Amino acid sequence: MTPLAPGATIGVLGGGQLGRMMAVAARQMGYRIIVLDPSPRCPTAQVADGVVVGALDDLDAATHLARQVDVITLDTEHVPASLLAELAKIVPLRPGPEVLRTIQDRLVQKQFLDRLGLPQAAWAPADDLEAALAKVGRPAILKVRRAGYDGKGQFRIDPDTDAAAQLARLRGELAVVEEVVRFTREVSVILARGVSGEVRIYPLAENVHRRHILHTTRAPAPMPDEQRARAEAIGIQVIEALEHVGVMAVEMFELPDGRLLVNEIAPRTHNSGHYTYGACATSQFEQHVRAVCGQPLGDPRAMSGAVMVNLIGDLWSAGPPAWHHVLARPEARLHLYGKDAPAPGRKMGHVVLLDDDTDRALKTADLLVEQLAPRT
Ligand code: ADP
Ligand code: MG
Repeated sequence: MTPLAPGATIGVLGGGQLGRMMAVAARQMGYRIIVLDPSPRCPTAQVADGVVVGALDDLDAATHLARQVDVITLDTEHVPASLLAELAKIVPLRPGPEVLRTIQDRLVQKQFLDRLGLPQAAWAPADDLEAALAKVGRPAILKVRRAGYDGKGQFRIDPDTDAAAQLARLRGELAVVEEVVRFTREVSVILARGVSGEVRIYPLAENVHRRHILHTTRAPAPMPDEQRARAEAIGIQVIEALEHVGVMAVEMFELPDGRLLVNEIAPRTHNSGHYTYGACATSQFEQHVRAVCGQPLGDPRAMSGAVMVNLIGDLWSAGPPAWHHVLARPEARLHLYGKDAPAPGRKMGHVVLLDDDTDRALKTADLLVEQLAPRT
């Protein structure tokens, strides 16, 4: 395919913060952006050239979008496969429907990783819960197969938990069970693959989650070269096996003995790659635009060490955060997503701290979170 030149129009399914940051990068390069979302005021629509208002399973609305754009990409992988197949008949879809089919369903994703021979936490389908728990042991985590994010749809099963009662909370939704991994840390490989098959890898990200939601990312993750090379090799194996086009994140658990288990794959830009916007020569958002437009990929090299800290809705519980604490710091970059309802657990924005001393930046990140929530 001939590359889509600036001036072409990119369609985005879903109008969250990932789409928003991609739209900013795309428009900077002269591309146009039209987004499909149920809300005309969603984070992406606020910075897009156009919006088609409709749900992500609304075939008429999605078709209307497809007819106005040169390529379609996604802000979320949770779009019905049947709808994606229809859209792919009208306009190129990047990533393609097959990538999404493999990743949308945790069970299919785990089977795919098993086929590649990549190590994962012990897992089993939850259909026969007792058999699954017998296989993976307790404590375990029950995870819905579809549409989970930020720890939503996940339930822990401890030795004394009534497993059947936890299963009932899923209201019949299909799920998998995983052993609870006692990891030393979590890392993610953010990488991109272009239409021609070229791959670019960002500096490895080290992630800390709080209550299953990403809290901080630091990059580059301090790690011996040989270990980092193994993480990168896993990322490359996954992105090439999927023939993915665009940015992808592969989340991993690092074990005390150094082994790396794959936790999950995201076929899109990722929260743990937000630091690239500011720290790297090409942000993950610009990289995704380049990839889906069939253009050469950009330089992923870091110009600085970085720490990203998420701003969760809880910070708003006593009123608007005291932003001057962020804005007064020369190393800090504030990103807010334009969401009007700061609910607890909801990602509202993030701060990137550009600092080669990432230990210091991690301390600053925690200090900022305390300073931002005004005390009552
Ligand atoms: P999502 O990011 O889609 O909500 P994840 O499976 O990545 O779902 O889970 C979110 C976080 O919860 C992980 O990054 C990790 O911190 C924790 N977690 C998930 N599964 C496990 C597990 N099997 N063992 C230990 N921690 C886990
Ligand atoms: Mg995750």
